[in-house]
Amino acid sequence: MYFCPLYSGSSGNALFCQYGETRLLVDAGKTGAVLKEAMARVGVPPETLSGILITHEHSDHIQAAGVMARKYHLPIYATPETWRAMAGKIGKIPGDLIRTVQSGKSFWLGEIGVEPFSIPHDAADPVGYRLWGGATSVSTATDLGAFTEDVYSAVAGSTLVLLESNHDPDLLRANPRYNQALKARILGDHGHLSNEACAGALLKLVSGGTKHLILGHLSGENNTPVLARKVSEEALAREGIRPGEEILLEVALRDEVGKIYMLKETE
Ligand SMILES: [Zn+2]
Ligand SMILES: [Zn+2]
Repeated sequence: MYFCPLYSGSSGNALFCQYGETRLLVDAGKTGAVLKEAMARVGVPPETLSGILITHEHSDHIQAAGVMARKYHLPIYATPETWRAMAGKIGKIPGDLIRTVQSGKSFWLGEIGVEPFSIPHDAADPVGYRLWGGATSVSTATDLGAFTEDVYSAVAGSTLVLLESNHDPDLLRANPRYNQALKARILGDHGHLSNEACAGALLKLVSGGTKHLILGHLSGENNTPVLARKVSEEALAREGIRPGEEILLEVALRDEVGKIYMLKETE
């Protein structure tokens, strides 16, 4: 199974996953041109995708969804509430490209088994996805205000998890460009996961057997890759775990196409 965070961050998200002949994107939150270029970097023409899975209707996840669906004739998968919420934002989608998903209802998209699960976030009906290729699985856990027990049980034991490490709460509180309402939204239970909350979730995931952890959806203003990594590394160190040995800990950058992770069946 191949996984590549093409982009991850509050300014745009698109994740690529391939197993066998099936290729898909989770979210398409950059312009069509930027995503086409990013996909060329990993050697994947957009027209070879089997579909686009949408997590929720915020623009950093759907910006190019409509454009790509129409241009490359790609089906889009989203919950009915997400479809309603993004209807005015992605333009008209031909009926044969509209697919609905539901939290807790798994399905096959080609050779990839897809398990949507609910996440606590301030959107209509947001979901994360666990994607199965054989016995290997990759999960997305970004855009969530809290790493709840339900989210944990949905992703526990995944081979790789893209986990949100959105902000440093002190940087966020001190940011003069964010008003109080926005700060409260981000810090709330339906906002975004802080570096500290991420580190707590990461320890749980590691204890559940996950060995590949990618920190993602970093804020551009209220975090840095160095800080996000440091908080998680320190939490692991307190448990006697050194990243690079037993587990892989990396940060998906906001403005650079991520690297391709090749996950072997035995991992
Ligand atoms: Zn987002
Ligand atoms: Zn969001």
